[in-house]
Amino acid sequence: MLEMKENCEKCEVPTAKTAAACICSFECTFCVPCSDDMDRVCPNCGGELLMRPKRTLDV
Ligand SMILES: [Zn+2]
Ligand SMILES: [Zn+2]
Repeated sequence: MLEMKENCEKCEVPTAKTAAACICSFECTFCVPCSDDMDRVCPNCGGELLMRPKRTLDV
């Protein structure tokens, strides 16, 4: 199951590349509501969850 992480690891909501999401330094990905819920701390590795920059168009 080594796919691109395109879903929140907690609630499975899709976090497409263009959607707002939070990511930790080990690339765990969560939606923003879940991240807020967890005080912006990754439950997997204890890292800080940061807002992932929205990607509009990769050239
Ligand atoms: Zn979520
Ligand atoms: Zn993590």
